[in-house]
Amino acid sequence: MRRFGYLAPRTLPEAVQLLSEHASVARVLAGGTDLVVQMKDGARRPEVIIDITGIDELRVLEEREDGLHLGALVRMGEIEDHPVIIARYPVLVDAARLVGSRQVRNLATIAGNTCNASPGADTPPALIALGARVYTLGPNGPRVIPIDQFFVGPGKTVLSPGELVTKFVVPRPGPNEGAYYERHTPRRELDIAVVGVGAWVKLAGEVIADTRIGIAAVYPTPLRATEAEAALRGQPFSAAALEAAAQAAVAQSQPISDVRGSAEFRRWLVDVLTRRAVTNAVARARGGGPRAGETP
Ligand SMILES: Cc1cc2nc3c(=O)[nH]c(=O)nc-3n(C[C@H](O)[C@H](O)[C@H](O)COP(=O)(O)OP(=O)(O)OC[C@H]3O[C@@H](n4cnc5c(N)ncnc54)[C@H](O)[C@@H]3O)c2cc1C
Repeated sequence: MRRFGYLAPRTLPEAVQLLSEHASVARVLAGGTDLVVQMKDGARRPEVIIDITGIDELRVLEEREDGLHLGALVRMGEIEDHPVIIARYPVLVDAARLVGSRQVRNLATIAGNTCNASPGADTPPALIALGARVYTLGPNGPRVIPIDQFFVGPGKTVLSPGELVTKFVVPRPGPNEGAYYERHTPRRELDIAVVGVGAWVKLAGEVIADTRIGIAAVYPTPLRATEAEAALRGQPFSAAALEAAAQAAVAQSQPISDVRGSAEFRRWLVDVLTRRAVTNAVARARGGGPRAGETP
């Protein structure tokens, strides 16, 4: 690994100032489970590392009036163990529990998973399904960005130089709402999604009054499957509605062939997992469905 400078701010304003000063050559360090690996294999060569793990306000994890506040430094392991998240935001457990091993999840943060901007990351589809907002702070002040507008391309986000993510806010779940995430990997643990689908639904009786669907690993960014959402919105939950949504999700996907799977296999997975994710989101909205993190 190349030599690099190391700075460890204790406050957010200090972090923003240091990031701005070293903007073109600096990189934020959180859990390091992506960044350190990338630095070791030469994929990223920052000259300065800004370690934000000493900034306590980035660790907020509580449900408030406007929803669940998830600080940038909240770790996957905290999400999968948190009683409020398990009870009220189980889709976050579905996704967080799949990241790496328990050792990885004890380091890996929610902002790191998002800011690394891998199209195959597991928590972005769940955050898209839940309609999360990303809170940032930079030299020009704070910003709030809808999660589905946060990603620009593989490894790229809308963050400007000197700007960092401070937290995510997930709206409080209302009655008759449910969400679910599932991915396909050849082995059960320590693997990256071939495809992953997260779905959120709001029911009005038998009708899907509203929905959001996020898909991993079939597009240059985590994909919000707006066409599939449109196929479901206002429709009774039925085999025909699922068929229309699955077809629309496949049509909107632009998968590539790589070591994890062919484009054709990925399209097939989008079809299958969209149906499953919506079906299990509906089951949760009705008060049943899989328990948090209980995905096949
Ligand atoms: C063995 C192994 C298995 C893995 N399995 C999975 C998996 O199954 N699913 C999955 O999705 N991921 C997986 N990962 C990837 C990784 O663990 C996650 O992406 C993790 O959440 C990254 O978080 P981190 O805190 O370690 O980020 P870091 O490595 O510290 O940072 C990642 C990137 O985000 C930036 N960043 C971090 N925090 C901020 C912030 N607050 N503001 C601005 N930029 C920021 C950093 O500068 C860096 O570019 C795996 C990694 C390993 C090593």
